[in-house]
Amino acid sequence: MRLRNISGSREIIGESRFVIHDPEAQKGNWHKIFGNNDPIRIEIGMGKGRFLMDMARMFPSVNYVGIEKYSSVLLRAIQKMEKEEKPLSNVRFIRMDAEMIGDVFGEGEVDRIYLNFSDPWPKDRHAKRRLPSREFLARYDGILKEDGQIEFKTDNEDLFRFALEELEPAGWKAERVSYDLHHDVDMRKDNIMTEYEERFSSMGNPIYKYVIVRQR
Ligand code: SAM
Repeated sequence: MRLRNISGSREIIGESRFVIHDPEAQKGNWHKIFGNNDPIRIEIGMGKGRFLMDMARMFPSVNYVGIEKYSSVLLRAIQKMEKEEKPLSNVRFIRMDAEMIGDVFGEGEVDRIYLNFSDPWPKDRHAKRRLPSREFLARYDGILKEDGQIEFKTDNEDLFRFALEELEPAGWKAERVSYDLHHDVDMRKDNIMTEYEERFSSMGNPIYKYVIVRQR
């Protein structure tokens, strides 16, 4: 998802109270930002932030950090936050490329990672850029707590099969897998839809999901 370059978006982001502007300086100190010891869960590639905000409303005792690469997209999430009747004190945003995630969160600081409808990067030579690739799994390993989980959803079958193949060599294992989440009696129970999920499932596409943990 890359929206047109919206003029002024960098300025609005620069002034937003919902955005952490120096995320590297917060490494190891995220609980201080939220002022509590509640778990910290992050969505990488949050887009316009609907999933993250819905989760934050439902689970006020969990802290959520949304990570988005593009200013023009982050701007939409900020605008959505500004419209909330009651500000969501358990949400913050970061504009960054997730490649640098290890510079922003300390070891074991993150309780859960959500990857929702990550860009597929279909060319083989771009496999390392896929968010569920072994290269990214190694980065997540550095920040996720010992029994932490990663949840990944997509409607892209090729990307999902690739993601499953990456698990074993990268030291992860699947706890739960669904090839049709919306018809999976068990896994659909606690499902919160993302923007892309709503769009693709309304076109009749099955939604794939895994929940993974480390092998050790
Ligand atoms: N998660 C949202 C959803 O399910 O509706 C948005 C999905 S959209 C297809 C993927 C988003 O991930 C885009 O907004 C894109 O800019 C962001 N993204 C892709 N690669 C990223 C990266 N390396 N770091 C941070 N964000 C990234």
